[in-house]
Amino acid sequence: MSTNLTNLKGGEFLVNSMNFADIYTPEDLTEDQILFKSAIEDFVKNRILPNIQKIDKQEPGLTPKLMEEAGELGVLGAGIPEEYGGLGLDFNTETVIAENLGKTNSFSVSVAAHSGIGTLPILYFGTEAQKTKYLPGLASGHIKAAYCLTEPDSGSDALAAKTRADLSPDGTHYIINGQKMWITNGGFADMFIVFAKIDGKDFTGFIVDKDTEGLTLGPEEEKLGIKGSSTRQVFFNNVKIPKENVLGEIGKGHKIAFNVLNIGRYKLCALVMGGCKAVLEVATHYAIDRHQFGQSIANFGAIKHKLAEMAIRTFACESATYKTSGLITNKISELVAAGKSKPQAKLEAAEEYAIECAILKVHGSETLDYVVDENVQIHGGSGFSEEYPAARAYRDARINRIFEGTNEINRLLLVGMLLKKALKGTIDIMTPALAVQKELTSFAGFDTPNPDDTFHNEKKYIANAKKAILMVAGAAVQKYTTEIENEQEVMMDVADMLIGLYTAESSLERAQQILQSDAPAHIKSISTDCVKVYTYSSIEDLAKSGREAINYFASGDMMKIMQMGLKRFTTTEPFDSISARRRIADHLIETGGILMD
Ligand SMILES: Cc1cc2nc3c(=O)[nH]c(=O)nc-3n(C[C@H](O)[C@H](O)[C@H](O)COP(=O)(O)OP(=O)(O)OC[C@H]3O[C@@H](n4cnc5c(N)ncnc54)[C@H](O)[C@@H]3O)c2cc1C
Repeated sequence: MSTNLTNLKGGEFLVNSMNFADIYTPEDLTEDQILFKSAIEDFVKNRILPNIQKIDKQEPGLTPKLMEEAGELGVLGAGIPEEYGGLGLDFNTETVIAENLGKTNSFSVSVAAHSGIGTLPILYFGTEAQKTKYLPGLASGHIKAAYCLTEPDSGSDALAAKTRADLSPDGTHYIINGQKMWITNGGFADMFIVFAKIDGKDFTGFIVDKDTEGLTLGPEEEKLGIKGSSTRQVFFNNVKIPKENVLGEIGKGHKIAFNVLNIGRYKLCALVMGGCKAVLEVATHYAIDRHQFGQSIANFGAIKHKLAEMAIRTFACESATYKTSGLITNKISELVAAGKSKPQAKLEAAEEYAIECAILKVHGSETLDYVVDENVQIHGGSGFSEEYPAARAYRDARINRIFEGTNEINRLLLVGMLLKKALKGTIDIMTPALAVQKELTSFAGFDTPNPDDTFHNEKKYIANAKKAILMVAGAAVQKYTTEIENEQEVMMDVADMLIGLYTAESSLERAQQILQSDAPAHIKSISTDCVKVYTYSSIEDLAKSGREAINYFASGDMMKIMQMGLKRFTTTEPFDSISARRRIADHLIETGGILMD
């Protein structure tokens, strides 16, 4: 397996590694990005957070007005080219924006739906006339967008949509009939991206303006969380829209619907990672201030464990998000150099890294859920009270595991995509998989520790984790061939192993960079602690998933050989994670919950 590549293809992380110095990290922000970041921080602090309760009560006109203010700041048009009224900023800057918006609960959902799934279909698939008509308003926020894919009977199975579009007898219009549900921004959107089947069969995208006759809205949904985001049903009763409003090619609506979701999943992770950081600060401050048994609860080991673990998982999520941002940015540059337009390049780059985007979506949303849950626990009874922000953060986090493809669908997808790449030969998985099979029956050899390499063990764990995944996934595919899709529990186990690997390796690469940089000594030691704890627990989890899968699909001698192989590939050296977590928690208590900045 190669270990010093300057870039990786999508999914290639399973068999190769990058030179750690070449990965993109949050420590690489340019001066311009830092300036943009601080402008958004000010906006969040001065305009969104003071209004958070009013936003949650859906005070009429407030979210649309704040969205226009975000538009003025450049937040909505960051990724839209300048000729269409945007700022045409690079993808890494979009990551910085998303991270900082992630601290705004419901507001971030409204903005993400608008500038992601609401805007990107036009940017990527619109005609010149459609782009000229809509993009400037979408960039400024004067046109607000919604995206209508889901229906009462078609959620995860989006292509089972019943909404239909029929050409008018004079051939100038399509007439749309049907019903969409769970439509974010439904209550105030000016424009809806709608998917319907022409003649009941050709799944196609359409642009539908709000005031088109026959379009009506249901009442606001009473939701568990993100109460401040508008969510409505949208009904289409003989809605007549001009032929010019067909989006992309007839019958190719799935390309629009699914491709914008790659970026959507990536951005969701950047948003929730920003949310994790904000919640960690809140939790740390509360822990410091709350006294029981005559002392601050932050002094208790049980609370230190929680704070540290929240930070460690967030560090991993952040590292993987920025690494992927860098990979996508590099791919965009490569495609632009080859003559592609920027939007086309961005679309293709996100498609290349669709596996990583799905990994991030699952890991990010589950990290946030962990973080908000522990935050409530650290707050004790106050975590259950609306007087504190912990309850809102807890409620608002939950949706992230459901939309942009549920986490089950994303787990299945990411393994399915990887297997397809392997079968097509886009990534050579077969050669390393065969090498692992040979290694299984050979002598294990001795590992000579290198005392000069802080991460000697972690590098070994990552290299071995790849072998463990290749062994489990390879054997499962050999057994089930294409029928593996029906063995969902095995697919889920493999997905979890891949998620653990990608996030652990991204953290390790980042910490190696930090160690070689001129960062202060305490930052070096804290990031080292984070990576050591995270890698150690990821390998334990990976072993558990692998064992479960092998116990199901293997038998007899083969099962014994594989279980022994798994043990060999997931062996860890003794490591004192309790002391490492205590050091991380003490650092958080000193900085008020800020791990790295
Ligand atoms: C607040 C909110 C905002 C939303 N915003 C939008 C929006 O703006 N636009 C839009 O179009 N949609 C939106 N959605 C819809 C959202 O994308 C869907 O809810 C989601 O895709 C899941 O679909 P479903 O609710 O029908 O669940 P289902 O598809 O019925 O899934 C139910 C359960 O079954 C599992 N499942 C389903 N199929 C499989 C399978 N093949 N294998 C294994 N498990 C499976 C799922 O993972 C889930 O756990 C929103 C939803 C909510 C709640």
